Amino acid sequence: MNDAIRCANRKPDTQGERTWNRLRKVRINRDVQVPTDRFTEYFKEFDNVEAVRSIFGEETEKVLDGLRVDFVSGIDYMRVNDSDGDIMINPHYLKHGDLRDIYLDLIHELVHVKQFREGKKLVDRRFDYTDRVTEIEAYRHTVEEARKLGMTDEEIFQYLKTECMSKEEHRRLAEILNVRVSKHS
Ligand SMILES: [Zn+2]
Repeated sequence: MNDAIRCANRKPDTQGERTWNRLRKVRINRDVQVPTDRFTEYFKEFDNVEAVRSIFGEETEKVLDGLRVDFVSGIDYMRVNDSDGDIMINPHYLKHGDLRDIYLDLIHELVHVKQFREGKKLVDRRFDYTDRVTEIEAYRHTVEEARKLGMTDEEIFQYLKTECMSKEEHRRLAEILNVRVSKHS
């Protein structure tokens, strides 16, 4: 099992009723057929999601209609390709990851799509991952939506954790985002 797949399995399934009430408004096709496709072939009704509309405003439909997703096995979870602005997704994660995590990750990546369209540099190697302005903006937006899903600080803290981040980076990120750091971690 490679690292990407291990990473893709890291999150537990925990879905309360409030989460479900929001998630049932969208539809996600988790079966990848082709290596690249339109975002809207896989992710339906996202143009009606408040957290998405607050990113793109009146351009929401236009942006989502023109957005492409690339399915790439060699990456962790998902990210935005900083050369063409496509969302890259690990198909194993899409198929087997926690649905709530996938939804929140999409919100996060859509912020990066907006940043890409604004000509911002997504990967600024002068800064550590958790200190990049583009990352903090994406995480802030995601944490706001996580709170609306009814997630507790502990759940959000766990959501923020990946094997790809050190313990110190994880705690630091949580602090920056005003997420209460778990005593147990
Ligand atoms: Zn990011």
